[in-house]
Amino acid sequence: MARQIGDLPHALGEDEALARRFSGKRPVVFLDYDGTLTPIRDRTEDAVISDSMREAVRRLAKFVLVVVVSGRDRTVVRQLLGLDNLIVAGDHGFDIWSPTTGPIRREEGLSFENLLREVEAKLRAELADVPGNLVEPKKRSVAVHFRLVAQEQRPRVKEIVDAILGEHPELKVTPGKMVFEIQPRLDWDKGKAVLYLLKALDLDRDDVVPVFLGDDITDEGAFRALAGRGIGIFVGSASDPETAGRTTAADYVLNTIGEVEVFLNRLAVLYYGKGKSTLPGGGSGPNPQEWTLTYDSFEPEQERLREVLTSTGNGYFCTRGSAEWADVDDIHYPGTYAHGCYNRETTIMGGRPVLNEDLVNLPNWLVLKLRIGGDEPNNLKNVELLSYRHEVNFRNATVTRRLRFRDRRGRETTLASRRFVSMADMHQAALSWTITAENWSGPVEVITALDARVMNQGIARYRELEGRHLHPVASRTPCPDTISLTAQTRQSHIYVAEAARTRVYGDSGELEAERGLYRMEDYAQQTLSFDLQQGRPVRVEKLVSFYTSHDQAINEPLANAEKAIGRFGTFAEAFDRHQRAWDELWDDCDIQVPNDSRVQFLLRFHTSHVLQTCSPHTADLDAGVPARGLNGEAYRGHIFWDELYVYPFLNFRLPKITRGLLMYRYRRLDEARTQARAAGYRGAMYPWQSGSDGKEETQAVHLNPRSGLWEPDLSRNQRHVSAAIFYNIWHYIQATGDTDFLLGPGAEMLMEIARFWSSIVHFNPERGRYEIHGVMGPDEFHEKYPDANEPGLCNNAYTNVMVAWLSDVAGRLLDMLPERRRLSLCERIDLTDREIETWKQMSRKMYIPFLADGVISQFEGWEDLEELDWDAYRRKYGNIQRLDRILRAEGKEPDRYKLSKQADTVLLFYLFRQDELKQIFERLGYAYTPQTLRKNVAYYDARTSHGSTLSFVVDAGVYSEIDLATSWQRYLGALESDIGDVQGVPRPRASTWA
Ligand code: BGC
Repeated sequence: MARQIGDLPHALGEDEALARRFSGKRPVVFLDYDGTLTPIRDRTEDAVISDSMREAVRRLAKFVLVVVVSGRDRTVVRQLLGLDNLIVAGDHGFDIWSPTTGPIRREEGLSFENLLREVEAKLRAELADVPGNLVEPKKRSVAVHFRLVAQEQRPRVKEIVDAILGEHPELKVTPGKMVFEIQPRLDWDKGKAVLYLLKALDLDRDDVVPVFLGDDITDEGAFRALAGRGIGIFVGSASDPETAGRTTAADYVLNTIGEVEVFLNRLAVLYYGKGKSTLPGGGSGPNPQEWTLTYDSFEPEQERLREVLTSTGNGYFCTRGSAEWADVDDIHYPGTYAHGCYNRETTIMGGRPVLNEDLVNLPNWLVLKLRIGGDEPNNLKNVELLSYRHEVNFRNATVTRRLRFRDRRGRETTLASRRFVSMADMHQAALSWTITAENWSGPVEVITALDARVMNQGIARYRELEGRHLHPVASRTPCPDTISLTAQTRQSHIYVAEAARTRVYGDSGELEAERGLYRMEDYAQQTLSFDLQQGRPVRVEKLVSFYTSHDQAINEPLANAEKAIGRFGTFAEAFDRHQRAWDELWDDCDIQVPNDSRVQFLLRFHTSHVLQTCSPHTADLDAGVPARGLNGEAYRGHIFWDELYVYPFLNFRLPKITRGLLMYRYRRLDEARTQARAAGYRGAMYPWQSGSDGKEETQAVHLNPRSGLWEPDLSRNQRHVSAAIFYNIWHYIQATGDTDFLLGPGAEMLMEIARFWSSIVHFNPERGRYEIHGVMGPDEFHEKYPDANEPGLCNNAYTNVMVAWLSDVAGRLLDMLPERRRLSLCERIDLTDREIETWKQMSRKMYIPFLADGVISQFEGWEDLEELDWDAYRRKYGNIQRLDRILRAEGKEPDRYKLSKQADTVLLFYLFRQDELKQIFERLGYAYTPQTLRKNVAYYDARTSHGSTLSFVVDAGVYSEIDLATSWQRYLGALESDIGDVQGVPRPRASTWA
């Protein structure tokens, strides 16, 4: 059935539907080349596959059969691909080659070869006076490309082609994208080739799902051939003028080449280790691809995601990977964030004041713009991009962009940009541009600026909320090559200062650039004018210092920023120190995974991101672990319980960082005590979302992007955050033996948290057990009982087991302390023997609800909820990870159903070893059998939507005890989930295909 391209579902948003399609089967993946694996280029020889796409195809081909079907000459495609484990069908499938059997001969068209060579010669002769045409000979066809032919000359190309066809009725023309393909008039097209290949390779079977990805009109033959028996995926977008109005027989769409890469990687994850190759297979030595994330084309709709993934930071401040020339718009969002720089603002919504605290977007230090010969500054909208590469190297957290462009006056220029936020000197960042005039010489201006006119406007769903957080203070020019600026957060009054020194270097040292200056209170810029000579690169270096009034050893941030910049050396010197600091970190932190460069790369990507947010510098700050790092404004930079997932990594490598981060909690112990008291409890009740001073920052209402409605947010009742903090402190101490910490802040927090739990529990004499009411577990889809007015649930099993465990530890802990310490601690926090006795009782008498057959009930009353028709929802919505939003938009309350956003009960099996759990359960008088783990995992796996990526991490850990293959798949899902996030489509997760 032919459909409009705009009506096709997006292949990355349909993971569950595709999973069902693939279930129990094996795909054969057919890939077109130009426009599918590479962007279409004006000159066909420029369509070179990117390293990352090549790696994605190579990796996929380890697990499933991959066939490249192109209109191009087969030998050219093989050469461009640089891979020899694929079947390549060139020349629209006339010419097929397999790595195992060599050429697969087709008789069709053989007799045409001589005629086609004659036609080729004729075309060349007739088109000689039409500039820009490109005649491409292939074995059994000839292509005439006219992409570079001037508009007015294109009819002439058609005339020539038509005339030749008139002479040779045995030939036909198939139009492609800006190309005429002259072929034998045979009943043969890509579709026929695909069907022929399926037969020839013995894959014309029910257990094989052929998948075809292509962008060209000639690919429609393949989509039609596979209709009803395979999957056709159109690559392109309805808004592309070259595809406008086109109908297609494809089933799904992928809008960009980048999305094709994501899709291929997801498919590889799904079939990882399932035959074809041994697990993990492959094999690679030291490989730069294991350290770098590379994008070889500019994809506007992916730029914001890329900015996050290519952020660079040093655990003190972090800057998104935005291009230096980019202003905020719908494509770019430059942002700089520093630990602890929060500000509170009130928004009046419908007459109601709503207070929010945000991690503030700080002045943009990146700004560098190039203006050639007095024209407007270059950006990607006003030049023709000839090549583009955006890369981050995780070995040293350095972002590079290299682009060659042609401006409106035909001048071709190469710009290579490099930058880092120094891991050696936490107040330093550096940027270098190398500009080469390729075919011209003349004057240029480089604009370098510091811009404090920024706001928080990065997250669409917060846009109705106040985004102004900075007051301008002043800008200065402390010396001729330096500008500086200071701003202040509007409510929290934190001063932030930046200074930037920009210099220009030619072949023989620093160049004298003429400098113009423009300053406002919240913006400072210098314009450096100099001449470029053709072919002679010039380097611009911008060194930046960054200080805030929260810093240690600080006088006044602006004065310190200016002083520091005067002491900075060159970019190369700064880079050298930065690189050495990262080398040291990797010595401690690199986890090596032999034989799989993709997994190796992803692990380093994640490790690097953790270290850019939590580095040794962080240990000395008053900083926690923001749920989204320091790369953007999601979750407002708040600190939830996510550190629970980060500390196991840091504890064994850089425990000093965990200690520093735990001190963030200690400094807010008094606030947690106050929160507990205000709620009628004792001890320390930590907030679900924490920011500057540790008060509860969870918003009271949140926006459902599906329904557009503001809905009450009850998630603050996730009191389990305090249990997680207890767990974190205890495990840090177990891992490090840091008795200093234990005897000081550690024990005090542990005792106060245990005390909180003993005040929130109540003893139910009928059951003879302690219960906790009015809370939520990690599953945020259940905030209360259906139709209840009161928030919260009774006896969330995860929380109650955590409390049973921590009560036991707390009850025993005092006995472990030296007597003097024990007495002084008890005195300081007024701890009584009765309380300690209650903890001991709680460790034996917490209530845990069960369903039938040893399955733990996520909370009391779960059994009364309705089962959801998961299949129906999957069929209707494809991706149902955010079932809460889907149900609410349908007017239904998620509370009514047996569903879980993420691991809740199952998390217990992740946090504790089986023998520990057995001990906890048996102490409580509940059975824990060898089947408990399997039964619970199976029950909740069928009812979990994985609406949080934390869920996959937990699953990977839990499955490692019972099913290694599933564990590995979930692990890969977790590893891939950030990097594959695609803006504009629901967040796909590979492992839900499993
Ligand atoms: C998860 C929470 C998590 C928060 C921040 C939510 O989607 O459900 O468990 O703490 O994101 O990462």
